[in-house]
Parts: sequence; C-alpha cells; structure tokens
Amino acid sequence: MEEQFKCNLCGNRHSRKIPFRYWFKKRHIYAVKCGYCGLIVLHPRPTDHEIDEMYRAEYFTEEDVQTHHYSEDYLTAVARVDYGAKVDEVRHLLPEGGSVLEVGCATGELLNAFKTAGYHVTGVEISSFAAEHARKNYQLNIIQTPFTKEQTGNQLKAESFDLVMMGDVLEHFTNPLDALRYAHSLLKPGGVCIVHVPSTLNLISTRLAFLLYRMTGTQKTMTIPPYHLTEFFPDTLKRSFHEAGFSQCRIRQETKHPKTIALRHSRLENFAKVATQYPNYWLTKWFGIFGDRLTGVGRK
Ligand SMILES: [Zn+2]
Repeated sequence: MEEQFKCNLCGNRHSRKIPFRYWFKKRHIYAVKCGYCGLIVLHPRPTDHEIDEMYRAEYFTEEDVQTHHYSEDYLTAVARVDYGAKVDEVRHLLPEGGSVLEVGCATGELLNAFKTAGYHVTGVEISSFAAEHARKNYQLNIIQTPFTKEQTGNQLKAESFDLVMMGDVLEHFTNPLDALRYAHSLLKPGGVCIVHVPSTLNLISTRLAFLLYRMTGTQKTMTIPPYHLTEFFPDTLKRSFHEAGFSQCRIRQETKHPKTIALRHSRLENFAKVATQYPNYWLTKWFGIFGDRLTGVGRK
C-alpha cells in the first residue's frame, strides 16, 4: 500500500501533484505540494537504501551529468571557488575564534577556510569518500554519519556552536525540519544557522513552464536520480526556521545573470529561459523576488 502523505512542515495530510516527476528505478516519483503550507516534497520518496546508493563515491568524483555538477567533476569545480571570501561574508555573525559546525561539509574546503581563519571547526558528512578526503587533505575533525541526534550520538554537544552552516544539504534530507531542529539544539543561545538551498521552481521561467504544463495537461519528467527530496520556496524555508525554534530569520534571494546560466535543454527551452532570466535577474536584484538561490539566516 502506498504510504499516505503527511507534510513534514505542518502535518497536513492533503496534497496535490504538481506537473513535475522523476522516472527512477522503473517507477514515477511525483512532486506534490502541501495543500496548507505549500511545501513541495517527493511522494512517495525513494527508499533509504536507494538514497544511500545515490551518494556513492562517484557523486563527488565522476564527470557525470547525473550529478549536479554537469560538465566537470566535483573536485575540479570546488578548486575554483574562493572559500576565504565566503568566510568573510559571515564573519560579522559570529565571535572571533568561535566554533563552527558544517553539516554536509563534503570534501571540506569551506570548513578548512574557517579553520584557516582561526575558528574551531567540526564537520558532519554522510559520504565516506568525502569525509576521508577532508580528513586527509585538511586534517579536519569530520563525523561521518547522517545528521541526526541518534546517529551522531554524543559526538556533538548541545549548545556548543556559534554557527551551523548547511549549504545545499537541506533539500537532500528526508526530514529537513528535524535537521533544522537538531541544528537549533546544537547552537549556543544567540547562535546562528545559515542555510543555502536552491529554489528552481521560484524562477519566472519555471513558473511559466508549469503554467504551460497545466494548461496542456502535461508534465516535466526528469530522468536524473531524485536527489532533491524537498523543494523550498522563500515562505516555506522561513516557516521551517520558525517551526524549528529560531526566534529571528531572514531569507535572501539571488539568481544568476542570464549570461552565466547553464543551458541544457532544447533550443526553444533555452531561448525562453534566457529571455525570462533578464527581467528575473533585475527583479531579484531590486526587489528580492523570483530568486532561485535562497539563503536563510536564523538566530537562536
Ligand atoms: Zn504543509
């Protein structure tokens, strides 16, 4: 029997399908939207075993369109990023020499930049390949488990961190709200949690495409593995912070300039994407709407 829908965020049991699904392991996995709070999740979601399989070592190393990194492998892509600048962006949010936890620290580049800048750092990472890479290359303290209280056990102390970073991980969790609650419990009073998530469905181009799918009774079928189990909008991300117990929270939206967006579809789709990305870019920049990159900053 198919498991019944229950929203992770608000507990509501009513949902409706949106015109978007995955074809994965010879079955369809549908994206559904909660009828009350609007959270979008996959339902029924892939099994725990399938999720484990998706994150085998190749997720980080293969040059493979099946992962998110498309034209180059993960390690090549991270080598080009200025992680020191990312640390500078958040410095004002935590005390000098404070303690930083990164959840889903992958191969450890950002965490290493925090360490170099004088912070005490700890990482949690599910992939054994990535965790080993981080330990070997940067001598980092990495806990290799899923990010739950049960799994990390007494390796992480309650109320011991000034900052918890969760960059592009929340959408991969089976229960993002539980993860945020756990992050909240690990923060000192006044500590800060920073979350980065994609919000592709918030773009003008995606909104128009969905409208078109609905009008024509069709839908988008993705054949890549369903890595993202939850799709956030600014309002559902904000609600997640509040439900997890954060007293303050603000959400910032960003999107790429049309000249720098990745084009991987048909010529017509690519044209429509670039054409809508011009107004999208300026609307996001000026008014903070329709962004496909969300940064949530919550304070305990
Ligand atoms: Zn809901």
